[in-house]
Amino acid sequence: MIDRTKEKAIRLYTVLPCYNEEEILRSSAEKMMNLYKRLINAETDVRLSDRSRIMFINDGSSDSTWSIIQELCNQDDLFCGISLSKNCGHQIAIFAGMQYAVEYNAECVITIDADLQQDAEAIPKFLKMYLDGCDIVYGVRKSRNTDGLFKKSSANLYYRFMNLLGCNIVPQSADYRLMSARAVRSLAEYRESNLFIRGLVTELGYKTDVVHFDVSRREAGKSKYNLKKMIALALDGITSFSTKPLRWTLFFGLVASAISVVMMITTIVDYIRGVTVPGWSTLTISIWFIGGVQLLSMGIMGEYVGRTYIESKHRPRYFIGDTVGIDHDRDTRG
Ligand code: UDP
Ligand code: MG
Repeated sequence: MIDRTKEKAIRLYTVLPCYNEEEILRSSAEKMMNLYKRLINAETDVRLSDRSRIMFINDGSSDSTWSIIQELCNQDDLFCGISLSKNCGHQIAIFAGMQYAVEYNAECVITIDADLQQDAEAIPKFLKMYLDGCDIVYGVRKSRNTDGLFKKSSANLYYRFMNLLGCNIVPQSADYRLMSARAVRSLAEYRESNLFIRGLVTELGYKTDVVHFDVSRREAGKSKYNLKKMIALALDGITSFSTKPLRWTLFFGLVASAISVVMMITTIVDYIRGVTVPGWSTLTISIWFIGGVQLLSMGIMGEYVGRTYIESKHRPRYFIGDTVGIDHDRDTRG
């Protein structure tokens, strides 16, 4: 049984993945620290233990992000940081942070983007639900007004497509989420190297709830999710959760074959009736059509075969290059 008595202060680790965030890191750190100090001194049910931490994950940044993290950690005990050996991507970075936090006895972990576009002031709401017995609390954005038209429509389309494929990701949920220690441990048991956390957490079960939060514009620095990374994330999500596209190619193949059979029959009928058809356009159209369907099917299959190949190697997901502000005695105690 988990102890979630309201008298006890919560030992929360907040994980912030940082990839070239030198422009915004200091201001985000200050906001987080103010929030933590308020919650540590709070008189309400939602109270943080003074052994809670704000954990930065440096995802192989090439700017001064890591030295800023080191500087922050030397200034205040609330901060700690780990640096991955190279850029592993947002999903791996938050996963590494969550795993590390739980290893150091975090009771629960919240992941939030380092630019704090997601409203950190919603954190007490997450904690309230944790105290009410939830193991996973999803942050769901109230609106997408701060996103450009392209990002907004592509994201909506993507969520619809994923649900069509049978993957129940919570719509409009970013990776702003609370997970209890046992939920993180369960997540770590999924051994696949292609980690699509948003989809995997809905597979875990446990009691879940939702917190609605505001999204603001990025105050400084640029978005690190370019089109290429967004497509990669979308493809990872699709292929790791559903084999339906493979079935669709089978269906396309069947339809194309059926059409060609009909064409064959009409040609024979035309021949018998003595109608001579020039036939050039029919021929080219069918060649292109069948060729297109075949290439598409092969492409889809290739995506899956390639991923099977990668998974079969069981490569490690990440290596930790350096840590700062992690005090073994202080952090592993109770
Ligand atoms: N990020 C990361 N590794 C990457 C790309 C992004 O750790 O390879 C982090 C980034 O520092 C930020 C979060 O992921 O904290 C979300 O990225 P960003 O704000 O650029 O995405 P957007 O909000 O535009 O979707
Ligand atoms: Mg952002």
